Amino acid sequence: MLSEVRRWSAARLRGAVARTLLATGAEARGRRRQGARLRILMYHGVVARRTGPGRCGNLFVDQKAFARHARSLARDFCVVSLEQVAESVQAGRPFPDRAVWITFDDGYRNVVTTALPVLQALRLPATVFVLPGLMDAGEGLWFDALRVLLVDGVEASEDVGHGLTLGRPSADPERAWTEAVRRILRLDPRLQREMAAQILARGRCEQWLPRHPEFALAGWDEWRRACSDGLISVGSHGMRHETLAGLSREACMEEWQRSKSRIEDALGRTCLAAAYPYGALDASAAEAARQAGYACAVTTDEGLNEAQHDPMRLRRTMIGDGGDVALFRARASGAWDLARPRGSR
Ligand SMILES: [Zn+2]
Repeated sequence: MLSEVRRWSAARLRGAVARTLLATGAEARGRRRQGARLRILMYHGVVARRTGPGRCGNLFVDQKAFARHARSLARDFCVVSLEQVAESVQAGRPFPDRAVWITFDDGYRNVVTTALPVLQALRLPATVFVLPGLMDAGEGLWFDALRVLLVDGVEASEDVGHGLTLGRPSADPERAWTEAVRRILRLDPRLQREMAAQILARGRCEQWLPRHPEFALAGWDEWRRACSDGLISVGSHGMRHETLAGLSREACMEEWQRSKSRIEDALGRTCLAAAYPYGALDASAAEAARQAGYACAVTTDEGLNEAQHDPMRLRRTMIGDGGDVALFRARASGAWDLARPRGSR
């Protein structure tokens, strides 16, 4: 209960800071300061209502809030496509003034049903980074299965290793989830894969995905239809959302090449962009993305991008907080960067 109050207070504080910034005109100052640099927005899912496990972690934003984000982007920014970004970074040519590239990670079905119609109505381009290996297997993401297992609980208590026990619904699922994910991502890549497989297997026993379809990934037919008018593009997020940092150059190359050719075969379009799973990269992962033929790759590092920025290490701006509109406006305009309130980022 105390942690819930603390979390609620932190979210309220961030919202209050954002509203103060907007009231002092920081939004216009931030946009002017951006100039000919590119801001890349990073979304995950967009849902009608954030309930149950979907509230755990900073994953989904609300549909109504997203529609307001999109209208604000159409009005105040120059929303660019992946093709425009690729052209600029490859030629080192400045981006248009106040350029914004909208991206979604993971390829949730809710993005197809909820977010893309909003963007298409406003003719705003966007890119979605998908996971061909999970899509082909009809699976979801292990960390989403974990959200469900911790919020809903499981019948019989089970030790899944590395300090993670599943059992009755967690009293503080948010904290339990954050700590478990952090612990698992500190393991070496082989152990990470084992833990992911174990959590997904446990999730299947609990019918986690049929019970919580908001976590389902869209299939190839849906992406084919979404891409048909050229407004929406699809990039690679690796095959199965596995950490690439720490792997050999060859292993990274295989991951980037396999996912690229699977996407290109399925959609009949060149796959130009990659997003590092968990934002985890090192020199091998970045160099392999370049060699595999991607024009650019995005990280989860915060910040703006000059046209001369390393195209394999583009920075992004995370949009979460349930879609809080004041926070979105502060982050998208750069007002948030101007203020950088300590402990509130
Ligand atoms: Zn991801």
